Amino acid sequence: MTQTAIPSALTIPETLAAGPGPGNTDARVLAAFANAGLADHMQADVLRGMIECKLMLREIWGTKNVHTFGVAGTGWSGLDCLFSAIGPGDKVVAFVNGTFSGIDALTVRMKAASRENLAANSLDPKPANVTVITVPHGQSVLGEVVEAALAAHKPTWAVMAHWETGSGRINDLRGFSDACERHGVMGLVDAVSSLGIEDFAIDDFPGVAGWASCPQKGVLCLPLTYAPVSFTDRYIAHLKANGASTYVHHPILEARHWAIIDGKDAAAGTYHRTHSGYAVAAFHEALRINLQHGKAQKARDYAFHEAALRAAVIALGCDVTSNMTSLVVLNLPSALAGREKELVQACRATGFGIWPTLSEPVQVRIGILNQLSEAAITDIVTRFAAAMNAMGGKVDASAALAALGRHYGRDMAAE
Ligand SMILES: *Cc1c(COP(=O)(O)O)cnc(C)c1O
Repeated sequence: MTQTAIPSALTIPETLAAGPGPGNTDARVLAAFANAGLADHMQADVLRGMIECKLMLREIWGTKNVHTFGVAGTGWSGLDCLFSAIGPGDKVVAFVNGTFSGIDALTVRMKAASRENLAANSLDPKPANVTVITVPHGQSVLGEVVEAALAAHKPTWAVMAHWETGSGRINDLRGFSDACERHGVMGLVDAVSSLGIEDFAIDDFPGVAGWASCPQKGVLCLPLTYAPVSFTDRYIAHLKANGASTYVHHPILEARHWAIIDGKDAAAGTYHRTHSGYAVAAFHEALRINLQHGKAQKARDYAFHEAALRAAVIALGCDVTSNMTSLVVLNLPSALAGREKELVQACRATGFGIWPTLSEPVQVRIGILNQLSEAAITDIVTRFAAAMNAMGGKVDASAALAALGRHYGRDMAAE
């Protein structure tokens, strides 16, 4: 019998995280994670930290929703909690314009499916009570499209991504919320990519009954921590009346550890699951950093640096099709067209972490999460131009740097 050798200790290298996510985690967050003491999940400082996180989240997300808290795990954990109130047979309209809203729609189809629907196609059920409206890759979901679909189908729920990270498109949240309000529909929004980047407030969108985000993008708390969620009283009342077939992601039950009990803030949380003091400390520090940066300032900084990156890649001959401010999604110039995956692989092999699109058509995605400085954007552009040239792209890196210089108000020629 052969014995498996014990592998040597795992070393994961530092890379330049220049993709759609995860973003570069602030050293303060990592220090908070590493410096936390071992405390159990009912220890007073852990519980106080969770209450402070809950209050900071309400501030960052601009909401008085009592049911605003973190779901342990990744973005999909928060989204699973968000969609938990959808039950078999529920009527849903889901808007899909890329990879992530596509997976949202799959999650919704699984939850709204009957036993028969699941037995017929368990990994990709197609219940007739869920209508999926597909908007082509590279385009945004517009208010008119939402209005027409809700008027025609009169669902209980409508589902949309705020920012579709797959194609880098911002969807019409105002139009979505207004249409939901007009038709008495409960809107559910995947805000995984927009929270912590865009300056928006939940309470300005009363047609949306539930929201979910993630730890690793705009919130910048990769050490696997909490996916923020927020629910209106209407959602919670519907959930209470109809139930959900989950314990761990049940919004009412999960909220209890965050000291949200019987629809009100309580003095302390009660046990739901074993939270980690390390995770709570890291999440707490990430939220403090978000508040210290300031929501409006942070949004302006992303817009400013995204515009710089956009100008530089256009100067390299790329065609940008996105409108999010945390990343650019682009087509390569014709000399390199069709070689997107090869280019991305070559960059990733050197620790420069950019991404292709995960569904067709193949495009390149370059992100700037926590890379909000001229030096960081210049590094990204320099590496990208070099990678294009290494593949025979014959691009003029100095033109891209000159575009950056113009954006940042410097005269490159004079230097
Ligand atoms: C990243 C992302 C997700 C998934 O988040 P994970 O942290 O990978 O679970 C879902 N929706 C959108 C819009 C995203 O950008």
